[in-house]
Amino acid sequence: MPEIVVKNPATLEVIETLLVPESSEINLMINNSQKAFQIWKTKSLTQRQEILSEIADAIESRKDELAKFLTTEQGKPLHESNREIGAIASVFRMYAGMSIESEIIQDNENAQITANQEPYGVCGLILPWNYPIGLLGWKLAPCLLAGNSAIVKPSEFAPLTVMKCIEIMNPFIPENLVQVLPGGDQEGSYLVKHPGIARISFTGSQIAGKKILKDAAENFPKITLEMGGNDAAIILPDCDLDKRFGSIFWGCFFNAGQICVAIKRVYVHESLALELIRRFKEMAEALKIGNGLESGIQMGPINNERQLLKVQELVEDAKNRGATIVTGGRKIPDTGYFFQPTIITDLDDSFRIVKEEQFGPAIPILTYSDIDDAIARANGTGHGLGGSIWTEDIEVGKELAKKLECGTVWVNAHMLVEHNAPFGGWKRSGMGRELGQAGLNEFLQSQTLYIKK
Ligand code: NAD
Repeated sequence: MPEIVVKNPATLEVIETLLVPESSEINLMINNSQKAFQIWKTKSLTQRQEILSEIADAIESRKDELAKFLTTEQGKPLHESNREIGAIASVFRMYAGMSIESEIIQDNENAQITANQEPYGVCGLILPWNYPIGLLGWKLAPCLLAGNSAIVKPSEFAPLTVMKCIEIMNPFIPENLVQVLPGGDQEGSYLVKHPGIARISFTGSQIAGKKILKDAAENFPKITLEMGGNDAAIILPDCDLDKRFGSIFWGCFFNAGQICVAIKRVYVHESLALELIRRFKEMAEALKIGNGLESGIQMGPINNERQLLKVQELVEDAKNRGATIVTGGRKIPDTGYFFQPTIITDLDDSFRIVKEEQFGPAIPILTYSDIDDAIARANGTGHGLGGSIWTEDIEVGKELAKKLECGTVWVNAHMLVEHNAPFGGWKRSGMGRELGQAGLNEFLQSQTLYIKK
């Protein structure tokens, strides 16, 4: 039976080894999930809302322990883990306050026609490693409120805190309503192809998203895909760097850049470029990097070796093609997967680190002189998750925001996500939405009830 070895990315110590279930065991899990679904869907909406609320409280009451555990397996600094545990509690609480409405389409002497909202059944929730607990909340809370059951497939690089959270939920819900499938890509794919799975909600890379769409052609589960981004931040000449620079910097380096909606390319007006690069260098070199459990740490390691190698490869490629590494550029010679915060200049849009998602602490800074050209370049990669405009003229910001082709646009911010606002990607970054009412709708299917009078 294959195993998953979960390591602390800061120390490379093994935290736990998990056994991956065989296909017969996965079949049994899905079977049990179908039975749990039959019980859960008969609960009233009020009962489900109350249970979501209790889950939020239970998770919050274990926040410190969960946050430490998350930092140990994921690598992010403890304050970021605390925020993430807070986020799952808050998203459960928000969905506990939402309702599911039927719509009366027609009611007259001939017929009554109603559009009801029904759950799908067993949902496969497939998670990445960068924000595992936050995204567990984004998917599981609406999935359960809608009346579905779930098989959660966490990433093999960060399954443990997910398992702990589900352990905490279990006393509040019917047996087998939420089960964890520890495994890798193959187990994810097995879920997608399985006829017992009615909906797949996936967050991860575009490569995996493509395979999921192909695999889904076997049994047609309904599909939500939240995939990678390559967000551009466009800095206008009037941007007040004294006021805005901290947000720009952390938009790139929060969670060591391992956020789908991190800033992954900066386009700065040529008049501000020197000053912006100077500030980036100064702040990057002052960052306190280390094991996220230690106090004062601002940036942890990259989560896993595969990702470290990807970041390294893109930085090396830029170096070899003649870009300037203003600071950083190397793995930190330490035990863990630490990479220096890296600032890259003197490159153009043809470089791999500009075209591809680096998903790590290395940021290319490009210049522009004409704003239309900057917008076209920002829109030019085929990704469409997020983007931002940085200007002191809000009207100009709003005007330019409309020209960015992506699911979320910020003016003078980046990466801020409110749980009641829909989130998702345009173009190759996604299909469907998470969060807010739109995120709940993904887990409901409409059934038209036609009563002839
Ligand atoms: P990944 O695609 O390698 O894996 C994500 C999950 O999908 C894992 O659980 C993995 O085992 C599973 N998986 C992989 N191949 C599969 C297949 N063929 N069928 C079914 N499941 C499969 O991604 P990752 O490296 O874990 O995460 C990083 C990526 O996730 C980045 O591209 C990042 O931008 C993206 N991401 C997107 C969002 C968003 O909301 N848009 C949020 C976080 C991360």
